[in-house]
Amino acid sequence: MALCSICEHLNRAAIDKALVTRSASMRDIAGQYGVSRSALSRHKANHLPRLVQAAEAAEEAQAVTSGAALIDELDRLLERALAILEAAEGSGQLRVALQAIREARETIKACAELAMAAELEARVEALEAQIVEAQRGGVWSV
Ligand SMILES: [Zn+2]
Repeated sequence: MALCSICEHLNRAAIDKALVTRSASMRDIAGQYGVSRSALSRHKANHLPRLVQAAEAAEEAQAVTSGAALIDELDRLLERALAILEAAEGSGQLRVALQAIREARETIKACAELAMAAELEARVEALEAQIVEAQRGGVWSV
């Protein structure tokens, strides 16, 4: 069995932890512990306990889930915006509601930048277009 400079390393536990939690980049870990990046990659691929890799996969699955949750949230916002636009035809007092939607939208937009930007951005733009359209139509003044 070939020797692995990471397995043999005095700080193996700390290196494994950094690899799994991604608390630092591969380059930073390599620099910090004086090991090569290729040794790190090989060790991560071949020698990290399976359980640890399973935990990593679960974490990734969760990130995907929260991305989907963001899209759902944005869809709800869009529905609310459309409902407000409809109601606005008979009333000019919806500035507060519009403001609330904008704030929520900004929050989600910020999350989107951290997550799956492309699809979320498209929906944010659709929401924005609806608001701009309403303003242009003079339904309310902001
Ligand atoms: Zn190893």
